[in-house]
Amino acid sequence: MQTTEALIRNVVQEVLAQMNQGGVASGNGRATSARSFRGRHGIFQCVDQAVAAAREAFEQLSERTIEDRKRIIDHIRRISIDQCVELGTMEMNETKIGRLEHKIEKLKTLGERTPGVEFMRSEVFSGDHGLAVIEHAPFGVLGAITPVTHSLPTITGNAVSMIASGNTLVVNPHPSGRKVAAEGVRRFNEAIERDLGIDNLICVIEEPTLETANAIFSHRNIALICVTGGPAVARAALNSGKRAIVAGPGNPPVVVDETADLDRAAAAIIRGASYDNNLLCIAEKEVFVVDEVFDAMLHAMTRAGAVRLNAKEVDALTSQAITSVGEGKHKHDVPAKELLGQDAAVLAQAIGKRVSADTLLLFGETDETNPFVPVEQMMPFLPFVRCRDVDEAIEKAKHYEHGFRHTAIIHSNNVRNMTKMGRAMDTTLFVKNGPCMSSLGLGGEGYLSFSIATPTGEGVTTPLTFTRERRCSLIDDLRILGRP
Ligand code: NAD
Repeated sequence: MQTTEALIRNVVQEVLAQMNQGGVASGNGRATSARSFRGRHGIFQCVDQAVAAAREAFEQLSERTIEDRKRIIDHIRRISIDQCVELGTMEMNETKIGRLEHKIEKLKTLGERTPGVEFMRSEVFSGDHGLAVIEHAPFGVLGAITPVTHSLPTITGNAVSMIASGNTLVVNPHPSGRKVAAEGVRRFNEAIERDLGIDNLICVIEEPTLETANAIFSHRNIALICVTGGPAVARAALNSGKRAIVAGPGNPPVVVDETADLDRAAAAIIRGASYDNNLLCIAEKEVFVVDEVFDAMLHAMTRAGAVRLNAKEVDALTSQAITSVGEGKHKHDVPAKELLGQDAAVLAQAIGKRVSADTLLLFGETDETNPFVPVEQMMPFLPFVRCRDVDEAIEKAKHYEHGFRHTAIIHSNNVRNMTKMGRAMDTTLFVKNGPCMSSLGLGGEGYLSFSIATPTGEGVTTPLTFTRERRCSLIDDLRILGRP
């Protein structure tokens, strides 16, 4: 539902847009041409207007060089990096989940590392009958749905990748991260317009609702949607009838076998699971440890700085941190909003335990029936489950990953066990002997994106993810190899 204020703003914008269509001077004093949304800097109430503005921007972008695309992206990168403290703080204050230092770091990292125009390439087939060149063309205007866990970071990553391949985008952010989304988009567009004269390459719905999301899903001028979020939106996108790239939920399990370097494993698990208070979709969510090293592993966790809860404390936290929603066969457990993304010290306080404010992670022994095991908890508590051997640990990891095929992690020095788990899990990301984020090139090899397309299979998205193939064939000529 839109607020009254939003509805009034919507009507005013509608009237202004109609005036603009008649070629009237806009609010900023600049005469606008027919249909021009220039000067709006990507901020819209109405999906139709946002799509029209993004279409206009797409047509202008299509006239520009690859070098111009790079210059556009450089503005997005520069703002994400130079203004990461201000924008990260804004995101933290608005969403009230996660950790400030990581909100800041995420913006900086995405600005620095999201794949840009350098990822674009063409393929060539050269043979007796000449040449076929396959190029990767933009779709046009793309729709993006972004999560509260990384509101502006996801938009930053999507914008860089989508514009690198020549597209423009309309974003429906999560309502609880809408202000920072709009502010970031406004800053990006303003800088781009000032330098290159194109506005609205990234458009955002200022008061996003399920209705505006659905309007994007069904809009005839949106060529493709990229959805980053949990099970409900993933389902909605897959049922939308539109081509969808779905970066869906995960519940990444960790296996620790008897050959693992336990201190290294503990440090990696704490780093991954506590990052932004466990909000990452790739973050370690439950740990299966073989009996032979189970007690030693828990000691290693304590040595590395995590705080262990006893059985009574785990029960108390479980009853506060996990709740259920839905009725009948749709009833299921979910993380409680009050504790989702909160600091470990806040979780401890909720059960009357005092831990130092800089504690990164709580953990405890549970059995697999504890709801922390199946639920994507997104809070810095990790359940550790004792398993007979590595086969049982892998079997349970597979079961509790729920077939999302998202992320799985093993700590082991036995390549057979690594191979066995990799084959069994069949996940998009499979990490060995590192924290989850090393799979995105942060302490490991590879590249970064915050939209990891899991059910639809595109994997870690890049500019090429948002393209359509076009083939150009020249018959019998221009193969320059061989005799005349
Ligand atoms: P969420 O599913 O509550 O919301 C995500 C977005 O979808 C929001 O913009 C929300 O408004 C919208 N939405 C929700 N239900 C919808 C529906 N029925 N129709 C249309 N839009 C709808 O998720 P969240 O709490 O914002 O983010 C956390 C979730 O996102 C976790 O499940 C996490 O694993 C997942 N995630 C996945 C990736 C990935 O790359 N695979 C990245 C980040 C987050």
